[in-house]
Amino acid sequence: MPGSVIPDYIAGESVYSWVAQYFVQSAYCDRNRFCTQLFRKPYIRLHPTLPAHIEAVARAAGQEPQYLLHMGTAFPLYAFALRNKNKVQSLAAAMLGKGWGMMALSGQAASKLTLGGCLLKFCPACLLEDEEKFGVGYWHTAHQFCGVTACAEHRLKLQSIAASTGGIDRQYLLPDSSMLCEQPVPSEQEIYLSSFIIALYRYLCSQSPIIVPSEYYRLLLAQQGYLTRHGNIRSRKLWHDLDEFWVDLFSGPTPPLPIELASYRYVPGLVHYNNRSSHYLKHVMLMAFLSRSPQAFFSADNQSPPHVSRSFLETGWPTEQTVLGLLREHTSMRKISIMTGLSVGCIKQLANRHHLPVGHRSKFITPEMERSIWRQALMGFKREHIARHHSVSVGTVEANIQSHQGLSAWRRHLVMVRRKREHRATLMTYLAHHARGSRNNIKQECGAAFYWLYRHDREWLYLQLPDSQKTCYHPSVDWAQRDQALAVQLGQMEVQAKSLSELDRSLGGRGWLIKYKDKLPISHALAERLLAEYAKKENLNIPS
Ligand SMILES: [Zn+2]
Repeated sequence: MPGSVIPDYIAGESVYSWVAQYFVQSAYCDRNRFCTQLFRKPYIRLHPTLPAHIEAVARAAGQEPQYLLHMGTAFPLYAFALRNKNKVQSLAAAMLGKGWGMMALSGQAASKLTLGGCLLKFCPACLLEDEEKFGVGYWHTAHQFCGVTACAEHRLKLQSIAASTGGIDRQYLLPDSSMLCEQPVPSEQEIYLSSFIIALYRYLCSQSPIIVPSEYYRLLLAQQGYLTRHGNIRSRKLWHDLDEFWVDLFSGPTPPLPIELASYRYVPGLVHYNNRSSHYLKHVMLMAFLSRSPQAFFSADNQSPPHVSRSFLETGWPTEQTVLGLLREHTSMRKISIMTGLSVGCIKQLANRHHLPVGHRSKFITPEMERSIWRQALMGFKREHIARHHSVSVGTVEANIQSHQGLSAWRRHLVMVRRKREHRATLMTYLAHHARGSRNNIKQECGAAFYWLYRHDREWLYLQLPDSQKTCYHPSVDWAQRDQALAVQLGQMEVQAKSLSELDRSLGGRGWLIKYKDKLPISHALAERLLAEYAKKENLNIPS
């Protein structure tokens, strides 16, 4: 590009970010002229995680297109969730080329997740570091992924800026210090999920993409007691544990993830079908529940079953007596752990429950302190709070809780009561301010509260909800008349479309030409003819 400085590509920078850098440093003030130079077309928009035109960008940046496709986009994550090799190739081709039909190819459209508008995200602390190191802030690829809402390195919530229509995507902006504002602290679950997604992305960048996760799911679910002897999912237990595990993500008024992910109905599809594509977020919800890292997940077949302990304690197999016998013989917990495959923590809980002495490392805990910890635990204080109050570790508090039969269940009950109160209050406040709100409005505005109450307090919820709207009568359509009107409209248009769907969009995007082609024969035939004529004209390069 004449008079422009070509910026260096920073490893881990998103494709959108490099183009924004190039634009900022170029001699052009007009974005459209810049785009025409770079992409041979004005008005090019680049998606933060699924950009197209990568070959053009790579050429300008002096990089390999495949390298940019992996380092500057979320391609490895989407490709992982597609189960068909041809689909992966089509997605790569679309991203390298002109990007036609990308939302459908990536499976985003079919995922049925309300992903909201697209966002550009940055971590305030990373930004300051980047400005110091490179003299300029940039958009990190890993921060842009769906589901990544926190920076694990700095334990900060990511700041976001709307990027879709009306946002900054057409402007090509870079993050800078003037955009910084106060952000809430992310929850532990947000940090965990964000770092898991990034770790999975890095794993997929370095490993072969031909991995069938359903086999690993079945293996790990079986190891952790979630599959029956016949290979079916123990859904009640699994749903309950998934709920408990991810509860922090969906309990706030604005959950960081699409609320549909909290229903876990997609889990059987992931586990039982090798050939179904779905959104990578659905995979991550199950994977991160079953293992602590992608490496651990994909090496599951080399490990000994890690979770026998839980089902073993719950079902009270005779082995429990064996462990107690060994404890009574003063065998060390570590030794028992090796002999039985149980974790030391699990053996310790068992010993505490049966009042057997175990070697405490924290000898300074007095009986008064132990009683005080128990009292606070009984009142439902958080483990972290109790630990801080008594200057002991969270593990010590946990051991105390586990040593009292039923205390853990009581605390779970208290959590449920508190949540019920909060969600009921959210719903009542909304209803008080929106007397005419429909059920759908409530679902959209207070999604977390609605779905929680739907699952746990349905009777009460239905008593509060407004009556469901009556289905209204729609007179049947006169297709022949519509066909003629549409044909007239087509005849008056100057068609400049390459596909039927593009032509349909210019007619108002109602999908009639595609969905009802049998009912609209005249218009459909005319549309096909006009498209063929346009394609011919384009090939001959005749200026219109
Ligand atoms: Zn950071």
